[in-house]
Amino acid sequence: MEIAFHGAAQTVTGSKHLITLPDNTRVLLDCGMFQGLGADTHLLNRHFGFSIQELDYIILSHAHIDHSGLIPRIVKEGFRGKIYCTEATYDLCKIMLMDSAFIQEADVRFVNKRKIKQGKDLLKPIYNQKDAELSLNFFFPIPYNKPHKIGKNTEFIFTNNGHILGSAAITLSMQDGSNKKVITYTSDIGRYDSTLMKNPESFPQSDVIICESTYGNRLHDDQQHAEQILLDTVIHTCINKKGKLIIPSFSLGRTQEIVFILNKLQLHGLLPKIPIYVDSPLSADATEVMRKHLQLLNEDVQEFIESRPDPFGFSGLRYITEKTDSQALNQSNKPCIIISASGMAEAGRVKHHIMHSITNEKNTILIVGYAEPNSLAGKLRSREKEVNIFGEPFQVKADIIIVDSYSAHADYLEIERYLKCQCANKINAFFLVHGNKEVQEDFKKFLQEKGFKNIHIPTQHSVYPI
Ligand SMILES: [Zn+2]
Repeated sequence: MEIAFHGAAQTVTGSKHLITLPDNTRVLLDCGMFQGLGADTHLLNRHFGFSIQELDYIILSHAHIDHSGLIPRIVKEGFRGKIYCTEATYDLCKIMLMDSAFIQEADVRFVNKRKIKQGKDLLKPIYNQKDAELSLNFFFPIPYNKPHKIGKNTEFIFTNNGHILGSAAITLSMQDGSNKKVITYTSDIGRYDSTLMKNPESFPQSDVIICESTYGNRLHDDQQHAEQILLDTVIHTCINKKGKLIIPSFSLGRTQEIVFILNKLQLHGLLPKIPIYVDSPLSADATEVMRKHLQLLNEDVQEFIESRPDPFGFSGLRYITEKTDSQALNQSNKPCIIISASGMAEAGRVKHHIMHSITNEKNTILIVGYAEPNSLAGKLRSREKEVNIFGEPFQVKADIIIVDSYSAHADYLEIERYLKCQCANKINAFFLVHGNKEVQEDFKKFLQEKGFKNIHIPTQHSVYPI
């Protein structure tokens, strides 16, 4: 029996962990896309590093593209086994994978325009919308906390890990003769007392743990603090300065969190009467999926919907899907809040909103989370005075406000709290994935101090007997 790491090994994208069971059944935990690794990204997303023909199952922890994004590709290359996930993850994948395919096609079209002029060979997308649609036929949703048998002597169970809607830790239990072995893959672990999600649940005692480590050396700000900053920023921008507040935001999770906070503020009579727009077709679709699965959200939301049945809709809020309506927002100078994708402001409609508002000091751009340093949101985070948008330089005159408490990932003390359901002595091997090397080294030391042993930081394509 062995485990091989084919992604998210000393990096934070491309999650793919291949387990070979004693009867040679091969199970892939997640099938994520690599993102933002420069020239390597292209190759990494085309060469899996293992035989797809010998793969039997995929078990998917959640719908984020860095965990699910290569499913259409693996199916395109011949995978025909079952893909297990929760019902909500399946619903989200239907929109996320189609959107990802659309982006792949658009990106390649853009690059090929230049290649045609240069007389160079044309690129093909990693997959297209037809491939994404085909891959959805192989999904097989399973409820949380209900063991499901795969192969002869193995079963797995999903437990809620509080990261995003539908997300789960995966625990595999195998009987090998008289030996029982239990492996848990935590995947991305959520936060405690989050705005929308339930707290992460405990999972069965395991012999082997594969654990995320994104914030293995960082602590987040308090989330109450984030609500106050949001309200202060709205008043400062839309009432005092009479300007526009632009919030670049991820379509899934972050957008609904902000909308829910605004909804609560309005219910409590704290929010001034100004128009609010969620300008992103993907955000509108993701919100629909959240509405379908409200029972998966936390007690705060359950309590809230007793007085207002829709946590993601209220008077003054409008979801914009049509491009022309989005463009009309750029022409208006009236105070308003625009929440738009993408979160890093590298693509999508938010880039246009920033371009039209950045040179006016009346406006504010609120950055609500981590952004790659080279992305537009990353440059605004590092307070550059001038930024390039669509190849043109723009002076940064608008206020830039940064809030760091909206993360969907646990910090290191929250991961420790999550691991308290385990007896550290009973764990034979502990693998750290989904983190950068220096952070993982810090987190390894922290875990050792807490009594965990045999902690490994795997490299790409490394294989360990278990
Ligand atoms: Zn995630």
